[in-house]
Formats: sequence, C-alpha cells, structure tokens
Amino acid sequence: MSQQAKLSTWASNIAPSPTLAVDAKAKELKAAGEDVCGFGAGEPDFDTPEFIKEACVKALAEGKTKYAPAPGIPSLRSALAEKYRNDNGIAGVEASQIVVSPGGKYSCYLAIMAVVSPGDEVIIPAPYWVSYPEMVKLAGGIPKSIFAGADAEFKITPSQLREAITPKTRMVVINSPSNPTGAIYTRGELEALTQVALEAGIYIMSDEIYEYLLYDGVEHVSPASFSKEAADNVITVSGFSKTFSMTGWRLGTLMAPPAIAKAVANIQSQTSSNATTFAQYGALAAMENWEKSMAAVNEMLVSFDRRRLRLLEGLRSIDGIVCPRAQGAFYLFPNVEAFGMSANDFAAQILEEEKVALVPGEGFGAPGYVRLSYAISDEVIEKGLERITRFCAKHKA
Ligand SMILES: *Cc1c(COP(=O)(O)O)cnc(C)c1O
Repeated sequence: MSQQAKLSTWASNIAPSPTLAVDAKAKELKAAGEDVCGFGAGEPDFDTPEFIKEACVKALAEGKTKYAPAPGIPSLRSALAEKYRNDNGIAGVEASQIVVSPGGKYSCYLAIMAVVSPGDEVIIPAPYWVSYPEMVKLAGGIPKSIFAGADAEFKITPSQLREAITPKTRMVVINSPSNPTGAIYTRGELEALTQVALEAGIYIMSDEIYEYLLYDGVEHVSPASFSKEAADNVITVSGFSKTFSMTGWRLGTLMAPPAIAKAVANIQSQTSSNATTFAQYGALAAMENWEKSMAAVNEMLVSFDRRRLRLLEGLRSIDGIVCPRAQGAFYLFPNVEAFGMSANDFAAQILEEEKVALVPGEGFGAPGYVRLSYAISDEVIEKGLERITRFCAKHKA
C-alpha cells in the first residue's frame, strides 16, 4: 500500500500553475501531429545574440567552472550598478547593492523572502504574474490583490492602493511593463503610487524584467530613481531572460538598499549558492557591449512591434473582443466576457475546436480575459487570427 505523502504547510498551500492544463493539452495535440497555433509562449522566440553566447563559451573554455561569490561575479555586479546609475537614473547605486541570481523569478522570491514575515500582507495588483501570490504564501505572507481591468488600462490608482494598505501591509508589487497585460505605468502614475507607498512605510518590489521591451515611444521608469527615500524603499528585480532572449540561461538580477541586498545574498548563499558561473560571463558581455546589445534588442523589437500591431488590429476587428493597446512586453490581454463562457472554458474550447492555444486569465487573477503572446511568427499570427475570428463569430451570444 502506498503511503500518503505528508506534505509541509508550504507545499500544501502552493497552487499548481493554472496554465499547465491548456499547455499540456496543446503539446499533446502537437505531438499527435495537429496544426496548433500557439499563443501561449512566455518567452521570446529569438535565439540569444551570438556575441553573448560566444562570451559564455569562452568562459567555459577558460575554466570558469567553479563556484562564484554568492551575489555574483564582481565585474557583473559593477556593470549592473553602472547600468542602474546611467540607464535608469538611480543615483549612487553601488555594486554591493546588486545580487545576480538564477533567474528573475528567483530574484522575486529572494526579495519576498528577505522582507515578508508570516502574517504580513503583500498587495498584488491584478492582473498579476502567476508566481507572485504563490511566493508570498511560501514566505508565510498573505497576498492581497486589487483589480484594474481593461477600462482602467489594467492600472491601479493611488487611492486604490491607499485603501488596500493595512497595518499588516509590508510590500506592494509593481510590474511595469506587465505580464500578462503589457500595460506600462507613466512616470506620473508611478510617482503617485510610490508616494503612497512611502507615506505608508511599505516596500515596493518593482519587477522590471520587460524594461527594454517598449513600443509607441513610451518610456520605462524605475521607481527607485525618484528620490533617495524611494531608493531606500524599493527592491528592483529584473533579469536577462526577456531582454536578450536568455530564458534558458537562468540569470536574474536584484538591486536593493544595502541591508536588504546583504540579506538577499545570505538567503541565496544558503539556498542556491550562486547563478551559474560561466553564464554570468555571457551576461557580462551583454553589459560591457551595451550599444551592440541594444542594437540586438532593437532588431527584435522591430519584429515584436509589427506582430503586436497586427494581432491588436486583428483582435479589435472581432465583434465582442475588447483589447487595450499594450505598449510593453509581448502580450495582449483581451476581454472575452461577451462570449458567454469563463476564460478557462474559452481557452479549452478554442483549443478543442480551432487548435488555438492561449492562456486563460483566471491564473492571473483576471477571469474574463485571455493572454496571447506575440513572441511567435507572423504566419502563426495570421493563421491564428483567422481561427479566433471564426471561433468568436460562432460563439458570440
Ligand atoms: C519572465 C518573467 C520573470 C522572470 O523570468 P526569469 O526567466 O526567471 O528571469 C519575472 N517576472 C515576470 C513578470 C516575468 O514575466
């Protein structure tokens, strides 16, 4: 007789990824030879720029195969501090405030583990990236979501934030540009939100993983750049995955006030030791050849932007679909409530009937919406739009 597993409180509380069911079904269909249009991707479809790969290969050949210091190789931490000073306008950042981790996702987890105690509340604006609430729960904290839908361009207001803050609130999460909505806060909006957080004495975790994936000439702003006081209360997390098509490299970054950065490095030293040593040399090449790196990013952005506009136009021409014009990342997040079914059912049925894979909004705290990634080929977007149009015409109430 098999023994019943005795799981920890943490393991029992964590929800499995809600996107997995559709994803598993889509893969199954593909494996069976079906022609699936996959809008589910959460990663760029390009390869890592060649010069970054070469630097990593060189490091490997040179024997950079040993443990690195827990917070990262010193040259990469310095280069990142310089980037935050010059490119993000955050005065006085030093290398000691930077931690390189095994992925932006792990950076988020480290930030939460460093400041959230059991019983603490963390405010998470919805639609949110699926992992934030689960990470808060792993720290024993309580995720509190506040919602901003398509009518608000998926952006919370300062008064919404103020009203959600209680004496137990420890942190608010800001993710601009956002996954899943592609929404981006303006400087003025971010200043106002930051002001509310500072007045309440809570931390901001600013997830800026999509900071370089911007369209329509919009600007990315780091809350830590507003003032010394802001910098003392913001933990900025990011990584190389989305900017440089390096998802498989597992390299994230974190910038925090010195005491928090130190705590984060301690947690990392006892849990993962360090991000892969030779991979960090690839990232270093990206930082040290900034112009070349930005040229590579801009080349990808030309494709992303063309696909974004085509998908947006196609979706907006469908009767019943409401879709804000996302200006960052590589996602659109249309409302599909007009079709008389939950987003979960919408995703399951469109996969079944039209072989279109997309991610239902429930897992992002946004029932009634679905996420489509345009980090896919123009051909798949065209074919997918035809299928989505047909499906929607058939199911419009
Ligand atoms: C992809 C992503 C991350 C982290 O990705 P990594 O591959 O772990 O670096 C973090 N936040 C958001 C919102 C993301 O979409």
